[in-house]
Amino acid sequence: MTPVDLDYQQLLDASLDAARRTAGAGKVADYIPALAREDPDAFGMALASVEGEVYGVGDWQRPFSVQSISKLFTLTLVMARGGYDVWQRVGREPSGNPFNSLVQLETEHGIPRNPFINAGAIVMTDHLHSLTDGQAAETVRAFLRAEAGNPSLGTDPEVAASEAEHGHRNAALAHFIASHGNLVNPVETVLSEYYAHCAIEASCEDLARVGLVLARHGLRADGSRLLSRSEAKRINAILLTCGTYDAAGEFAYRVGLPGKSGVGGGILAVLPGRAAICAWSPGLDPAGNSVAAVAALDAFTTLSGLSVF
Ligand code: GLU
Repeated sequence: MTPVDLDYQQLLDASLDAARRTAGAGKVADYIPALAREDPDAFGMALASVEGEVYGVGDWQRPFSVQSISKLFTLTLVMARGGYDVWQRVGREPSGNPFNSLVQLETEHGIPRNPFINAGAIVMTDHLHSLTDGQAAETVRAFLRAEAGNPSLGTDPEVAASEAEHGHRNAALAHFIASHGNLVNPVETVLSEYYAHCAIEASCEDLARVGLVLARHGLRADGSRLLSRSEAKRINAILLTCGTYDAAGEFAYRVGLPGKSGVGGGILAVLPGRAAICAWSPGLDPAGNSVAAVAALDAFTTLSGLSVF
């Protein structure tokens, strides 16, 4: 199939078949109890093209907890507000460790490896909070509502509360970062904003529409410029190298697209210049990536020949 005769709907149908073949292989994240009630084998997938078309299969319009996919948007919005000084506070290298690991922070003096591990996202949230007069989570929600064209999109308070109640590890990360002078706002404020953006509920369709900002090299749905082309390139590069936890190498090998996963089971991937694709299924592999979503994206890029490589 050459790019000119691609049939996106047919490709999504084939991706759904690949996802179904993984049934029973993943485990729902239960360290956030409010997420544990999801069916591990539920599945949805949506593709939004830069031409404005949207395609979907399965539960593609069903909202789920975006979790770490929100880290892509905190980074995007910090960059959009010119917050480049955050790069003195967070690195841009893969961590080679689990997403909630504490070990590197000790040896690297409270500077998280990248914006997509929890420690790095906590610093990004802190920076965005300062840049928006104390509105970090609301800025993320407003951006998602505008790009998705879905004014009802919001935070699930039950999931946010569940994260806070069981968030000892994130609290440890935040206090450790603060002990190195790398948090500006109070730890409790930053954590509450962080949980509030992680607990946003959005569907595959919503997220694919939002991901188009990166597929369009920084242009918003209304045609205005959010990011320079170069900033969009850089965010896509960090997505590719750091977006899927400690399995970013495997994800690049199998899927070949920049992508961000979340423990809610979603993965948002970008086909620069062409489309954004979101796949969702709550059953996770040991690294924290959705088994069925990775299988579906693998099938999509393998069958279509579309990837960044
Ligand atoms: N809110 C989750 C946490 O802090 C996000 C984890 C994830 O999706 O990677 O653990």
